[in-house]
Amino acid sequence: MEKPSFDVVVAGAGLGGTCAALWLSTSNRVLLLSGTASAASGIAAGLVNLFAGQRVVPVWHADLAYKDLLDTLAHADATDTYNTSGILRPALNEEQAVRLRTLALEHADSFTWLSRDETHARYPYVSAPFGAAVTTGGVVDTPTMLEYTHTTIASRCTVLSSDLVGWEDSGSGVTVALKSGPSLHASKLVLALGAGYRSFPVLSALNLHCLKGQIVRVRAPEYPSCSIPVSGYGYVVPLRDKLILGTTYEHSYQDDQPTRLGSKNILALTQQMVPCLEAADILDTAAGIRVGVPGTRLPMVGPLSGNVWVLTGLGSKGLLFGAHIGRNIANWISNPEHVPYELRLQKKRRI
Ligand SMILES: Cc1cc2nc3c(=O)[nH]c(=O)nc-3n(C[C@H](O)[C@H](O)[C@H](O)COP(=O)(O)OP(=O)(O)OC[C@H]3O[C@@H](n4cnc5c(N)ncnc54)[C@H](O)[C@@H]3O)c2cc1C
Repeated sequence: MEKPSFDVVVAGAGLGGTCAALWLSTSNRVLLLSGTASAASGIAAGLVNLFAGQRVVPVWHADLAYKDLLDTLAHADATDTYNTSGILRPALNEEQAVRLRTLALEHADSFTWLSRDETHARYPYVSAPFGAAVTTGGVVDTPTMLEYTHTTIASRCTVLSSDLVGWEDSGSGVTVALKSGPSLHASKLVLALGAGYRSFPVLSALNLHCLKGQIVRVRAPEYPSCSIPVSGYGYVVPLRDKLILGTTYEHSYQDDQPTRLGSKNILALTQQMVPCLEAADILDTAAGIRVGVPGTRLPMVGPLSGNVWVLTGLGSKGLLFGAHIGRNIANWISNPEHVPYELRLQKKRRI
């Protein structure tokens, strides 16, 4: 095989591929293939939530992933795209209020409990009859963060807007076939294709599942634009002069476009927490496909063959997991045995 033109080709420029390219390019010649398919990362609401879902369970390796996110933002010169406002979590019922109060005792550094009256005094536009917690976290302006990161890496990494159509691992390197232009040679290929994995049968054999998600962007004069994001019945995320309302979790869908029903459901959900949204002006809607690993809520990363790596399954946690994998991928490629057992590649089970 001829001499590789690049040490690493990263295919896919969403949060996964971009964070990987950022860290890999500190000591490697990297080509980032930005692809032409729409990226879920472009519509992410930007919540950095260390305690996920209605069960308020800590994200896997939350403290480490959070530190990796802060390091990634600093390394990308994108720290000012992150508003560390915290996240308001209204308790949805008495049982959840008990859970949140317990967490406030166990994790005093990242949880503050507010009674119903305290919540009302601070956030009069939020309905929280059972009280609420303020947790560590906040909002990353994800499109701007990606833009800043691409600008930062442009000085030390080649970025090409083209689609990968195939590859061949010869054992000593990889030949990468592009839709436009001649094939390239690299020592390693990292596949960070988001939902684009479905174009490649070898990747469709992995234990992955696609979940469509929709958001609605609104303007609501009664909701202060500098306010805290609220998460409980869906979420309400202030970003610049708009609010992002989300989201749907659709296991079956006809296409990846937003629907009227999706918007209606999101508005009904979020109005339970923030009643003034009833009078909000709807600006636009968007939808994207999250790729997850069924049964784990964790991402998946590892070698498909000696020189071809897969980075996928970021699910609803693209910011935390994308940064965590990006921060570690150079070490993991050199030492595949260091990839945490829980994150290793899994194939679909045969039924
Ligand atoms: C509605 C919604 C709200 C969300 N909100 C949040 C949130 O608040 N916080 C959070 O952390 N996460 C959130 N997420 C999740 C987050 O968006 C994803 O986890 C993350 O974007 C996945 O990043 P990715 O790089 O794996 O995939 P993507 O962002 O989809 O990127 C994949 C990239 O691969 C490229 N590609 C595809 N095929 C090819 C090919 N053949 N050749 C070359 N390139 C290719 C595409 O063009 C794209 O650039 C949300 C997701 C959705 C849908």
